[in-house]
Amino acid sequence: MSFMQPSPVKYACSCGILNPINKLFFCRHCPKLRCGFCVSHEIESNFCSNCLENIPSTEARHKKNCCANCFDCPCCHHTLSPRATAVPVVRKSEESKDKDKEGESGADSSPATPSTKPSALPTTKKMYYLSCLSCRWTTRDVGIPDQGVATGTWPDNESLYQARFNTLMEYYQSLVLQEKQEKQEFQRRKAPKHNKYPSLTDRTGLTVSLIRRQIGWSDKNLSKTKPVNITPAEASAEVDDLPADIFTQPINLRSITTISQRHSQPADQPEAVNKLYPQRRSLWIKRSLRCRQCEHNLIKPEYHPTSIKYRIQLFASYHVPEVVMVRCEQPLQPGQANAILLKFTNPTMFDMTISLLETAPQEVLQQACRIKEEAVTSSPLLKATGVTLSRQNSTREIKREVLDVANAKLVPLESPFVLSQRDDSKEFDEDVQAPSEEPKFIVWRKANKVLLRLQFTPDAELKPGQLVTLGFYMQYTYVNTVSNTQDKKDPTTHALHSRIFIESGSIGN
Ligand SMILES: [Zn+2]
Ligand SMILES: [Zn+2]
Ligand SMILES: [Zn+2]
Ligand SMILES: [Zn+2]
Repeated sequence: MSFMQPSPVKYACSCGILNPINKLFFCRHCPKLRCGFCVSHEIESNFCSNCLENIPSTEARHKKNCCANCFDCPCCHHTLSPRATAVPVVRKSEESKDKDKEGESGADSSPATPSTKPSALPTTKKMYYLSCLSCRWTTRDVGIPDQGVATGTWPDNESLYQARFNTLMEYYQSLVLQEKQEKQEFQRRKAPKHNKYPSLTDRTGLTVSLIRRQIGWSDKNLSKTKPVNITPAEASAEVDDLPADIFTQPINLRSITTISQRHSQPADQPEAVNKLYPQRRSLWIKRSLRCRQCEHNLIKPEYHPTSIKYRIQLFASYHVPEVVMVRCEQPLQPGQANAILLKFTNPTMFDMTISLLETAPQEVLQQACRIKEEAVTSSPLLKATGVTLSRQNSTREIKREVLDVANAKLVPLESPFVLSQRDDSKEFDEDVQAPSEEPKFIVWRKANKVLLRLQFTPDAELKPGQLVTLGFYMQYTYVNTVSNTQDKKDPTTHALHSRIFIESGSIGN
């Protein structure tokens, strides 16, 4: 498998979507595979990718998710850097004062005389403009005056429709608030005790006012969010005429903006390059991922923007044996027996016993279900509060049947095999382990890796060019060092299974 190419080995997530192992997560509490679709995504922190300033979420919302100090080039979207220049400044008031003094004394003073103040000399002032180091665009190109300080003071280009946008936003905010209040009122009447807590992952900034109302305090925002009267927009068939010279003058493409330049300035979408304006840099976020079943964190990054480390990182490739397709022994032909070489790697600190099965192991299925239910009830959040918080994960996952795309018949392995634990020091061992009694299908074994030979026959009715997909269940033992219940401290061993599909190649001509 080469870099940048999609992996031919896909794992079925517990929600039924196929993914390569590097896109999957592993919840140790459930214990199951999770993909990006079956976890809830939460914003951990907002930060600027250029100046690496951490910005709290309320401030970020207030600043429209843009950095106050950094600007992007409107031409090529590179970061703009401030450049200093010296501008000569003539201080008129002081000069005139000096002249008055000179007139009083009556002396014909030259600049070299000690009576001359230094301020009378032509002084320079440091001024700043923004310049793109990539395409040489500067703020002077579009006539933006230089600024006295390097950062922050650059004026925003207010769009024509700013006032309209603001009224619309106010209107819809009040609408959302009203709807929320009605919904809350309705639910309060239906079930007086439940839904005591408003959503914690609210994006509209209205949670505070709701809480204030619940406590019985007067709502500061309520007076502000009275229904705003907006005039609906009206469509009109009258449009401005094209300029007269559009059919006569040749078009100069260098003065017309590109589509991406227009889209980076969505409020006014300028057509001419002299209307381009430096754009505030959008903030980036750090995400944490949470299992929707048990509400435990799967991914939690370090808070500080300069750190690229994680506090919690339950990537599937750290817990689930990795399967890599090496090669097929012969060219693929329909109905002809073939064999595939697969490399298994154990990423954990415990030995694994692996067996490849053709059908889902029933008892494992039931066991996994039981563990899942345990995990849900033993969630620390639910225990602590005793109520269900209306988080994003209140939408329960929809189970999808994994589509069986396999179109080859496998010859099952005679026996399960053991995959040794990961031991980083063994990587440097020179001596080869004494060959012990190995099952026939194992080609070689080194440290925590095993190469095995799996026999299969592609279906006879496959046409040339069709993809041959192998499918099997990999059952493996997994030692869980975290326990769902408080009293149990010993690691528990689970027999887990993942469904794996391997695209081994297409039928030859
Ligand atoms: Zn979980
Ligand atoms: Zn999933
Ligand atoms: Zn910044
Ligand atoms: Zn540029």
